[in-house]
Amino acid sequence: MTGPESAPRPLRPATVAVTAGRPAHEPDEPLNVPVTLTSTYVATGELEYGRYGNPTWTAFEDALGALEGGRALAFASGMAAITTILDLVGNGGGIVAPRHSYSGTVAALADGESRGRLHATLVDIADSAAVIAAMEADEDCALLWIESPTNPALEIADIPTLTAAAHGLGIRVVVDNTFATPLLQQPLAQGADIVIHSATKYIAGHSDVLMGAIVVGDDEVYDALKGRRDLAGAVPGPFETWLALRGLRTLHVRLERAAANATELARRLADHPAVEEVRYPGFGAIVSAVLAGGADAGDFVVRATSLWVHATSLGGVESTLERRRRWKLEAATIPDGLVRLSVGIEDVDDLWDDLAQALDRVNA
Ligand code: PLP
Repeated sequence: MTGPESAPRPLRPATVAVTAGRPAHEPDEPLNVPVTLTSTYVATGELEYGRYGNPTWTAFEDALGALEGGRALAFASGMAAITTILDLVGNGGGIVAPRHSYSGTVAALADGESRGRLHATLVDIADSAAVIAAMEADEDCALLWIESPTNPALEIADIPTLTAAAHGLGIRVVVDNTFATPLLQQPLAQGADIVIHSATKYIAGHSDVLMGAIVVGDDEVYDALKGRRDLAGAVPGPFETWLALRGLRTLHVRLERAAANATELARRLADHPAVEEVRYPGFGAIVSAVLAGGADAGDFVVRATSLWVHATSLGGVESTLERRRRWKLEAATIPDGLVRLSVGIEDVDDLWDDLAQALDRVNA
């Protein structure tokens, strides 16, 4: 029964994406928050200086926080967000992380290790028993790092199981939610403590912005992370933040089309003789195709397409592809012939025609 006292029904994610973080709609107020370009504020208010806060950041943070179910902080890049979280680990602390995390994350862990700051144990994040055993084996373990799906192997972690086990051992849990986005996966609701995003990818969504974000449920962790952001100055420009918020407004529409395209392309790729294996978790818009012809076949295909742009990064409206092992930092356990496809929102038949003509000519 509904009555005057009943709580309003929470808005659905698509509506939150469009509306969260907007200013109060008073006469003559702008509909959306404008870009506030300033390095300082008139003194004695709450903001004081441009490194501590900005109204455009606040609008972005309110919108992303509402989608993830926590309090968000905007960062200069995904890596700025990642290294800020790693800074929370005390000297000598341990981190268990996926061996197929984004290569920059693995590099940041190796850098911390080489300086004697921390130690990392890399695991197969899809193997929950192995992850739990690794946490149990390290009495200094302070952080479980989860990335799901992983980049570019597209493995899936059991977030609720791993989170429960980590918390039982007094270990904090971070989830890199870049590939899933808050529309397909909300790690805080599954028990995780911290969510990180490369907002460069799906959130901004147009291949024109570098940005990162952290979302947390706990006020103490929020304060610690904001304190580190203020100290390190790992803050985004207001214009970048405005672009990212503008991108976020259409996340649900872009993702729906890109995921539909990805599902169809994964199906067609699986039937192509040049493709040995297709990795697609069944959601999202990244597909990894392992080519039977290895590195040479991969290098041929990325050069032979024209609609698909040969470029790194992902999550834009434009379809891009690259052979991941061209990067020295990429894990040696990623197959040489793995081509990661970031499926955009173009017409799926045009995407397939371009890809198929390249695959058809492999080893021809
Ligand atoms: N996390 C994932 C899963 C990524 O794919 C990337 C970049 O590719 C990052 C983090 C790093 O983000 P950024 O490039 O915005 O620093």
